[in-house]
Parts: sequence; structure tokens; C-alpha cells
Amino acid sequence: MTYTSNWDKFDHWLNTRNQGQDEFIQAVREIAADVQPIINVHEEYKHHRVLYRLAEPDRIITFKVVWQNDNGELRINRGWRVQQSNVLGPYKGGLRFHPTVNESILKFLAFEQCFKNALTGLPLGGGKGGSDFNPKHCSDAEIMRFCQAFMTELNRHVGPQTDVPAGDINVGQREIGYLYGQYRRLANEFGGTITGKPLEFGGSLVREEATGYGVIYFTENVMSAADDKLTDKRINISGAGNVALYAAQKAISHGAIVTTLSNSKGTLHIKEGLESTDLNMIISNKESDNALKDAADEGVGEWLARATPWAIPCDIAMPCATQNEILLQDAQRIIDNKVQYVVEGANMPLSEDAAELLHASDLVYIPGKASNAGGVAMSGFEMSQNAQFEPLSFGVLDQKLKDTMAHIHSQCWEDGFAADSDQVNYSRGANVAAFRRLADAIVAQGY
Ligand code: NDP
Repeated sequence: MTYTSNWDKFDHWLNTRNQGQDEFIQAVREIAADVQPIINVHEEYKHHRVLYRLAEPDRIITFKVVWQNDNGELRINRGWRVQQSNVLGPYKGGLRFHPTVNESILKFLAFEQCFKNALTGLPLGGGKGGSDFNPKHCSDAEIMRFCQAFMTELNRHVGPQTDVPAGDINVGQREIGYLYGQYRRLANEFGGTITGKPLEFGGSLVREEATGYGVIYFTENVMSAADDKLTDKRINISGAGNVALYAAQKAISHGAIVTTLSNSKGTLHIKEGLESTDLNMIISNKESDNALKDAADEGVGEWLARATPWAIPCDIAMPCATQNEILLQDAQRIIDNKVQYVVEGANMPLSEDAAELLHASDLVYIPGKASNAGGVAMSGFEMSQNAQFEPLSFGVLDQKLKDTMAHIHSQCWEDGFAADSDQVNYSRGANVAAFRRLADAIVAQGY
């Protein structure tokens, strides 16, 4: 077969070996398009086939998870750990429990994670894992039994120098506690193998808040570089989980007006802006079946069943729920509403065509691998606190988070300028800066 360019050759290779894995192909193509020009002028990157090597996971572990529900019936789920690359450090990335989880989604997340972790400047490789288990409506005891069964297999493949999982969708401190307890029993070791732990046994201050806070710190860096500021900006946030709620908290405390939160059932629209006290009420009620509708029932804003936030006018759109949550028609509404910034809190929240449309528009687009890297950076700080047996204070860690987000911003800024434009392309900047670090490490370590 003859190819018209290196890109064609790579694209054919990628599609052939990952058939049916649309999310993974989407994520790799997006980064590959930005880094191909760098590869074309670096003979050593070509020779070492760095892009091909990054796009093939080091290994994928797939396993059966058998657990018992409260009625004594046996349930069978599938678990995965995608160990994408440890060229920069131990594999690092969260675990997601959701019925939509499949190998394609975990491969896309693991691939993106390598680039995000590279941007932090910390010694962290990339991985991701999870299960198609649906924890919604499970009792506490069922969740514990599932987590124990999951870790009974996963423990063989993780360790403080090998692979350090954390939380992601539906894996919060409760699940981390059960997973860590089972790891500790089986490995007979109390170390930093999982991050996002509760404070009582090795967790870090600011870990829970870090991703959401980091998104806002990054946004402030972007706005200050554009001579703009967050005060009085209207922000539509989607999601009502870990990332969304702490992004909302930090945004409000910095003078922004948070006009929406959402979940898989609909959107809470607060025209005049969410008050801190109402947000705290939502945070403390987050285990409820629908904390946002509960808030509307209490007189906080209006509940819009089955709606997303994207038709509502705002200055900043901040998707913080899940992948592919902004579709082409949503992107068009965002442009029609003259939104100035789209800042990703979630991983790959734009569908491929929505991303193309937004990239071609004038608004400033901030990719999640840069703006949501605060969570994994804080996990890195949790690992070093565990290794040194020395917890750090909230203030010290919050400052480290701010510094990390500023460091990521400056890399994206430097690599995001093109000779033919006066606007920074943050997406290209993030992809290129991360790729360079990964590629140099691959070349230096041989094959
Ligand atoms: P959570 O499980 O805490 O919250 C997820 C939120 O998104 C929930 O409110 C959920 O609603 C909503 N949601 C899920 N699916 C959909 C959907 N299809 N449509 C609308 N809303 C939906 O997850 P996190 O906040 O931890 O993660 C959110 C995103 O951020 C994910 O993409 C994750 O990978 C990414 N991320 C998370 C990090 C972290 O530290 N937690 C770090 C970096 C990235 P419902 O409860 O109704 O399902």
C-alpha cells in the first residue's frame, strides 16, 4: 500500500489495529494531527517511531470480577487496567466504575493521561482502569464487596513504583478506602499505591478539591494573559460531581457568577448566580439521587429536566461531566451565544465534530489535559508525602497546585503560538509540550 504522507500511513495503522474503538481513535488522531509537524522535523522521533509507540499501550489487563449482592446472588462484571506508558514514571491514572466503561474509553483516557501527566512536570506515567459495574442504587456493603473483588485481581499489577491508581467517575473516597483496604491486606504493605485516600490513612489535603480548583486557576492564567479577569463572568458548568462542584466553589470565591450545574437527568439553572451557601448544601447532599433537583425544590434556581447547559448564554462554558457531552449542535449554540472561553474540566467532553467547529471559531478553547491536570498533580504530591511520611498543610499544597497550573499554562502558551497567528492555540500547545517531554524520554531510553 502506498501512502500520500506520514499522517496517512499513521492513520491507516491506527484505524486498522483499533477497529471499533472510536473514542480511542478520536483521542489519538487529535493529538497526532498537532504533533505530526514536530515529528517531520525531528529525525530521531521518526526513527524511534515515538508516536506509534505512544499509541500502543504497554499492556492491557482484563479480568473477571465476581461479587455477591445483598440478595445472595452472584454478579459478574469486567475489570480493566490499561497501562499505557511508564516512560516518565509509574503508571498513574484513575479508576472509573460506570456501565458505559469499555476498552476503547479506557484506552482513550489512558492515552490522554500520559500527555496530561507529562505536562505536570512530575515523574508520572499514564494509565487508566475501571469496570462496567454500576454502583448506582447499590448498598454500601455491595460496593465494598465489589471493590474487594476488583482489587483481588488488580493488586497483582499495581504498587507504589509500578502503577498507582486513583478515583474517577463513581470512584470517590469511599470506594478508594475499600480498594486500598483490600490492597493492604493482600500485599501486606501500607504504602502509596492508591491516591485520593481519605486523610486518616495517607490521603492528601486539597486532593478532593484539586481538579476543580486547578481548572479555575488555569482559567485565571489564561484570562490574565488575555488582559481579562474572572470577576463577574457568567460560567455554565456541567456535571455535579467532584470536578464540577469544586470548580464552582473556587469560581464563586473568585467573583464569578456560576449559572448552571447539571447531571445525567437535567440542568439546574440559577439565573442570578449560585450562592456559596446553596452550593455547600448541594455538596453536603451529593449522595442523594438528584441533589440538583432537590436544590431547585428548595428554591435554588430552576430545574430543567433532560436539558444540558449549552443553550444558556454565558461567557465561559465549562464542561465537567463526561466525554462527548458537547455535540455539534451544542457547539453551534455556544458560538451563536458568543461564549468567549470553553474550558474543559472533563476529559474529552467535545465530540470530534464539535471540537472541529470550536477550533475553527474565535473563542478560546482550553483542553482538559491542561486545565484538569491539577487532580493528578495533587496525586503526585500525595505520593511524595506518602514516601516521605510527611503530610503537608492545605496552604502549602494549594500553592503547589497554583504553581503547577501556572507552569502548565506557560508551556501551553509557548508551544501554542503559531507564526501565522496572534492568538494562542492552547490545544496545540498542550499536545506539543507534552509530546516533546514523552518523545525525548522514549528516545533517551532506547527500545
Ligand atoms: P463524578 O462521578 O464525581 O461526577 C460526574 C458528574 O457528571 C455527575 O454529576 C454525573 O451525573 C454527571 N454525568 C455523568 N455522565 C453524564 C452524562 N452522560 N450527561 C450528563 N451528566 C453526566 O466524576 P468527576 O467529577 O470525578 O469526573 C468528571 C469528569 O472529569 C470525567 O470526565 C473525569 O474523567 C474527569 N476528571 C476527573 C478528575 C478527578 O480528579 N475527579 C481528574 C481529571 C479529570 P449523574 O450523577 O446523574 O450520573
